[in-house]
Amino acid sequence: MVDFHHPFTPYAIQLQLMDTIYETLSNDDLKVGLFESPTGTGKTLSIIASTLTYLRNYHNSHLLNVSSRSGAGNGDDDDDDEPDWVNQNYYKNLIDDKLEVLQEYEDNLDNLKEKLHQHSISSQMLISNDDLNRNSKKRRKIQKINIEIDDDDLEYLPSNQLSNEGKTYGYDKDASLENKNNSISIEIQNLLSKLSSKNNHDNLNHDNLNNDNDNDKIKPILDYDQKTKIFFSSRTHSQLSQFISQLNLYLHNTYNNKDDKDDKDNKDNNNHLALNLLDNSFNLNNYHLKYLPIGSRLHLCINDNIKSLNNISLINDACLDLQNIPSDKSIDKKKNKLKSTLKNCSYYENSKDQNLVIKFRDLIFSDINDITQLNSLGKHLNVCPFYSIKNESNSIVDLISLPYQLLLIKNKHVNANLNLKNSIIIIDEAHNLIDTIINLNSITVSLSNIILIKNSLNLYLKKFIKKLNSYNRVNLIKLIKFLTILYNFINNKKNDPGFKIKPGLEINILDIFNEKSTGDLLNIYKLENYLNKSKIAYKIQKYINNVTGERNNTPLLFDLIEFLKVLSNPSKEGKIYFDFISKSKTEKDITINYMLLDPIETFKDIVLNCKKLILIGGTMEPMSDYVKYLFPYLDEKKQIKKFSCGHIVDRDNLNVFVVNSNNNNMKYDFSFLSRNNVNMLIGLLKSIIHITKSIPDGIVMFFPSYKYMDQVIGIWKAKERKSWDKLNEMKKIFYESSDSSDINKVLNDYSDHILNSDNNNNNNGGLLFSVVGGKMSEGINFSDSLARGILMIGLPFPNLFSGKLISRRKYIEDTVLKNGGDMKKAREESMNFYENICMRAVNQSVGRSIRHIKDYSSIYLIDHRYNQEKIQGKLSKWIRDRIITTKNEDEIVTLTREFFNKKR
Ligand code: SF4
Repeated sequence: MVDFHHPFTPYAIQLQLMDTIYETLSNDDLKVGLFESPTGTGKTLSIIASTLTYLRNYHNSHLLNVSSRSGAGNGDDDDDDEPDWVNQNYYKNLIDDKLEVLQEYEDNLDNLKEKLHQHSISSQMLISNDDLNRNSKKRRKIQKINIEIDDDDLEYLPSNQLSNEGKTYGYDKDASLENKNNSISIEIQNLLSKLSSKNNHDNLNHDNLNNDNDNDKIKPILDYDQKTKIFFSSRTHSQLSQFISQLNLYLHNTYNNKDDKDDKDNKDNNNHLALNLLDNSFNLNNYHLKYLPIGSRLHLCINDNIKSLNNISLINDACLDLQNIPSDKSIDKKKNKLKSTLKNCSYYENSKDQNLVIKFRDLIFSDINDITQLNSLGKHLNVCPFYSIKNESNSIVDLISLPYQLLLIKNKHVNANLNLKNSIIIIDEAHNLIDTIINLNSITVSLSNIILIKNSLNLYLKKFIKKLNSYNRVNLIKLIKFLTILYNFINNKKNDPGFKIKPGLEINILDIFNEKSTGDLLNIYKLENYLNKSKIAYKIQKYINNVTGERNNTPLLFDLIEFLKVLSNPSKEGKIYFDFISKSKTEKDITINYMLLDPIETFKDIVLNCKKLILIGGTMEPMSDYVKYLFPYLDEKKQIKKFSCGHIVDRDNLNVFVVNSNNNNMKYDFSFLSRNNVNMLIGLLKSIIHITKSIPDGIVMFFPSYKYMDQVIGIWKAKERKSWDKLNEMKKIFYESSDSSDINKVLNDYSDHILNSDNNNNNNGGLLFSVVGGKMSEGINFSDSLARGILMIGLPFPNLFSGKLISRRKYIEDTVLKNGGDMKKAREESMNFYENICMRAVNQSVGRSIRHIKDYSSIYLIDHRYNQEKIQGKLSKWIRDRIITTKNEDEIVTLTREFFNKKR
């Protein structure tokens, strides 16, 4: 049995989960693991314990290349004439040598950590005097640069005033390689990049061999090509922060539970995965788990001026723009009229210093550091964290945490220099993974925004037309033409009496860029390339912000650039279509959208590149969708492991009821056609009063949508005021509004009220009206008295008539037909997909109430359709297994009363 070194005594279900993850990682036939483990069951700790145990064991057998050699010592190698003891001795010496160097590196990390602690993160003290001198010279050199252009508005002009013939204009003689490459063919660029990466590699080895002794120490570790590492990806930064705290908990307790926990010298080394203590294979003391949290420039930029832009697109462009500022050598001082000064980024310049970058890396690896600490270390060493972690750290890291965006947007992980090959990728909170991939790779542009961008561009061009070179001028005019064509296309369709714009209606690109519009003469690819390389979007945004006095508004041109990218390289898995968005309560805006219909190809790169892929979440059922829509090319039986964990709470701590009808035998049916039946809604209010009377403290009630929630409350107030008032007296009512700014207030008020609840006449608790898919249905922890009951009204099917859903369902049906299925099968398939979205949302929402082993709650699924076998089959197993079959509402109320009486 594997010892996972779990910091606590694991529960049976935690052991099962760890065993199954470990088995999936160890079994060569398996490629993907699909795991469901309800929230509150110690999921993250189980993931950390099982994967790090696997990694450690894997490294023990592979890192030092022992496995291939060990056979010799056992007499397995027929060609070897040497006696066994000679071979054994030889390989022991070989391993000892390697371990010695590895140990030196680990000791070096220990020293760094100690210094950090001594000087309380005063990493500056870790830089040698030589480094400081060298860097201060460098900083002096790049402080302020005077620009020769006689222009107050320089900061708004594109930094690459580079003509398409490759001639420079203005200040940018040393235009970046990136810009120069614009005029080079793709093949040559590829060749250049291969050569440049080879040179980098050579330089690295050369430096390692000949530089100061720090570099010598890391050399043996760098020997391991394609070292297996773990990528842990989650949706939000707060989820990633939780991961780090669990990682610290694991490493701290794992270490401190060991025999020599009293060893004074080792007490603080919480990130040590001490190989010798956990495994007898190698005598390597204090192995530091090399952990790296990565993110975008939004989180890793430490240049205050740039960071304050507070928008990822603006920060990206502003950072790249700074890199285009020339060195002072390129400035002709005689001509310089000193009207403008620009600063480039000193952190970027210092990140080119390999010694500093290696120091930065070693500081990071000396402990478990989160992004904030990375930024502090970057500031102290004056290096940019974003650029400094890109290369050096990748080769020796064990564990990387990263947000979804970096992993799931096409080519982002390539751009971020992440080598997924041979890695273990864990995607946490994967219940919405398909939708997330689709959303991250889709784009919407509204008619209002097209008009706004067009007006802004005209304003910009009018102001700067004389100062722009012909290359920029021509491209901006082309961009305005492109916008005019888009505008005319939508407007003509809108005003065409014989044409009706409908959500999901497919748009043929050739209809937009036809001969009549002369759009056929536009080279979209070149235009997109120009926008991307010139960083003009950022400049225009900066100018518009300055003119309007606004800040942090949604950048106008960035969505358009994304849209142009799609148009210039339309994917056969995507579709362009019409839709509408709400502009105000009464007005709608027309949008043109690109949607990735099929995430298989986008995700394939990840699946095929990695060693193992683990998708895990609290509510992964129904799991069939992942197989069908993410990796249908895998052999489901041989290559995919599925495991749905039970819940940690006792069976007695959770009851699930299907409320089929009310006491007057009126069936609860909240399907589209019946859901506005006033009699049924009045009956519902009475049932709610009847049931909630027996539930103490807080109750969360979920509606399928904000609109429907408002309608129902309106009917209750108008038609059944007495009962409505009675409900208010029983439980104070709180509402989740669609306005996200209210959420904290509502939650605070609700939880304050519940915490003061004494379940008597003064305060009987509260009832929180929420919406599935709203802010309360995901990520909020309604533990203990905050949710002793969950009421789910109806089945929250998404809007069947949204352009997105129409397009996706049509694609599914078309695929079935293309593969030889008939229309019946196609409809079944798309209906199944539709139901799965709904049931995943149900699982997610009702799971809010049970958050730890001692928690208890009752769940009420109010709709007769919850009795259908097919629907119950899509509930998470731990919910499905706890459904109590009842005869009527009275019986539900009796059982509820008994349940909570027992808990008193
Ligand atoms: S180089 Fe780094 S610190 Fe400088 S602007 Fe770019 S991301 Fe920010």
